[in-house]
Amino acid sequence: MEFREFAERAAEIEAEPADLEVVALVTDLLDAADENLPVVARFVQGRVFPDHDSTTLDVGPSYLYEAIARAAGQNVDADDVEDELAERGEIGEVAASYDLGGQTGLGAFGAGAGGGSEDLTVGDVTEELETLAETEGEGSQDAKIDLLFGLLNQCSPEEAKYLVRIVLSEMRIGVGEGAVRDAVAEAFDVPVDEVERALQVSNDYGLVAAVARDDGVDGLAELTLEIGRPVQAMLAQAGAVTDALDDWDEAAVEWKFDGARVQLHHEPEGLTRVYSRNMEDVTDALPEVVEFAEERIDVPAILDGEVVAIDDDGEPLPFQNVLRRFRRKHDVAAAREEVAVRPAFFDCLHADGEDLLDAPLAERHERLAGVLDDGGVAPDDTAADVEGLSKLWRSDDPDEIETIDADALDAGHEGIMLKNPESTYSPGRRGKNWLKRKPDVETLDLVVTGAEWGEGRRATFLGTFLLSARVDDRGEYETIGKVATGITDEELEELTGLLDPHVRAEDGQEVDVEPAVVFEVGYEEIQASPTYSSGYALRFPRFVGVREDLDPDDVDTLERVERLADRQ
Ligand code: ATP
Repeated sequence: MEFREFAERAAEIEAEPADLEVVALVTDLLDAADENLPVVARFVQGRVFPDHDSTTLDVGPSYLYEAIARAAGQNVDADDVEDELAERGEIGEVAASYDLGGQTGLGAFGAGAGGGSEDLTVGDVTEELETLAETEGEGSQDAKIDLLFGLLNQCSPEEAKYLVRIVLSEMRIGVGEGAVRDAVAEAFDVPVDEVERALQVSNDYGLVAAVARDDGVDGLAELTLEIGRPVQAMLAQAGAVTDALDDWDEAAVEWKFDGARVQLHHEPEGLTRVYSRNMEDVTDALPEVVEFAEERIDVPAILDGEVVAIDDDGEPLPFQNVLRRFRRKHDVAAAREEVAVRPAFFDCLHADGEDLLDAPLAERHERLAGVLDDGGVAPDDTAADVEGLSKLWRSDDPDEIETIDADALDAGHEGIMLKNPESTYSPGRRGKNWLKRKPDVETLDLVVTGAEWGEGRRATFLGTFLLSARVDDRGEYETIGKVATGITDEELEELTGLLDPHVRAEDGQEVDVEPAVVFEVGYEEIQASPTYSSGYALRFPRFVGVREDLDPDDVDTLERVERLADRQ
């Protein structure tokens, strides 16, 4: 396909406001693309390489301005191009405003004034852009400018407009991924669902378009995951325990690690690659993960997980520490000395020749345990202590989930993830099947009016605290809930000492406390409930801290509690 034709069709698409018509025009474009179909399916989205390929052209805007200025002629420099950009607001329009090919360049000899070579094809453009991407090292920026100058010199204004947009990966013609997917289905008469599935496993619009055209629905069905070709990561929504338990019979509960997402592709005696959440190859920066795979995994596998930075005792460190490792290109060994990382895998996309995207999470996790453990634990023991395995508990009991959350926080993690055990793996989707537990939005300041002694090793400390809100005009307090979560052993000891002088009476485990100590507590929801004297109860109350600066007179009123409950 001539690049001129591509540009003309792109202009037509850009001018079309109706979504359905856009899909129809993209369908025609794909139909007309012939041997350039894979590239055209990407160019139309402003992409040069497949999504799984993190190669970049590495052309900053200033180099592009320089190339445009050179192609525009002697009287124009990069500053002029920038001024023009400020005026017109978009670089494609700026490039089109100069008569690039008609001035000094090749176009002057070829297609004549007005530019536009008869010969420049989509294939030529692709080749040049590939060369551009490969050009690196000393002097590479000049070489890149030369290459771009050469290309722009052969362009008509319309071609230049879309070429520079492709170079900057901003096509701006209103064609999203959904439109290309629908157009592939339409153009080659294959079901849209099959196209979608093929895109998920291959992560390559060009490949899927070509397979749909050449081999139809059977060809698409044969596309599988490939080791070394990363897929998009499944993402999570914010959600609460209540959301999970309302929608599912039970929840899969996992710790939420405070690290960075990685996708491990491993072939024993073969390729081992680690990709970031954006599918960048970060293998060289994370030798620990490669060593882990080589030592521990003896089947071909694609695993999804998180790498966490750890201190000398193996305790997790905050997320920023991992980022430093991710960015590191040189002296990785020294960086590793400073901050080590450890993987925690929570999902398995492929194991031993079998793609698992369509298997339920519970099954994928069992396979994961099998991949990471050579038979030491029962496969359905999803919370087993296996190195590198993120544990998974299944529960429909809010209290049990609370305990897992408290343990996660105690162990230095971010909190918990709640997942639908029946759900399949949807690459790139942020759906309702994975919930990251919403941090408490509001907190309440409440006074402690009672407590209970703990049990077991906590028997000498008060362990559960009865909380009350103030009734505004009466100077009285009404109970609203009990908090026992989010408190460390050290804090329990401190709190016991703090409340001791205020104990009024004891009855077995139960302790009556005069209003004196104020807690800040988070919660997920306020419910009307007969359990407490206020007529309200907090769901999932969580201890945030003691408000030493507040007196019982300052705590939240029942009126505020009512307002917050109404607002939910
Ligand atoms: P956040 O900043 O909260 O990590 P995000 O936008 O990076 O959010 P989300 O999909 O919204 O990503 O949240 C899920 C993220 O949490 C995952 O991308 C992953 O990096 C991390 N994570 C940690 N532990 C788990 C786990 N057990 N299961 C899934 N994701 C986990």
